[in-house]
Amino acid sequence: MRDTDLIIQWQDGSGDSVEIGYLNPNGQQCCGHCGVQGTDHGQHAYKTECTICGYVYGTSGSDMFERRCPECQKGAAGIKYWKTLNR
Ligand SMILES: [Zn+2]
Repeated sequence: MRDTDLIIQWQDGSGDSVEIGYLNPNGQQCCGHCGVQGTDHGQHAYKTECTICGYVYGTSGSDMFERRCPECQKGAAGIKYWKTLNR
């Protein structure tokens, strides 16, 4: 994916644990969603950043509050959180 392909606007979810800037007890920070559906029904996929190792990945909204980093905390693999253009 090239950054120049699209302009993404990151949005807050509804609820304290899915607002941009939310930091969960495991040090995982919510960076918002861009309208992509998560793995759970009715949930968005949120861009998530590990504040410990810097790994960036996707998390379904309902998992945000207890998410663990796939890279340094043996959490589940990240899900797709970015949009792609249909050409
Ligand atoms: Zn990490």
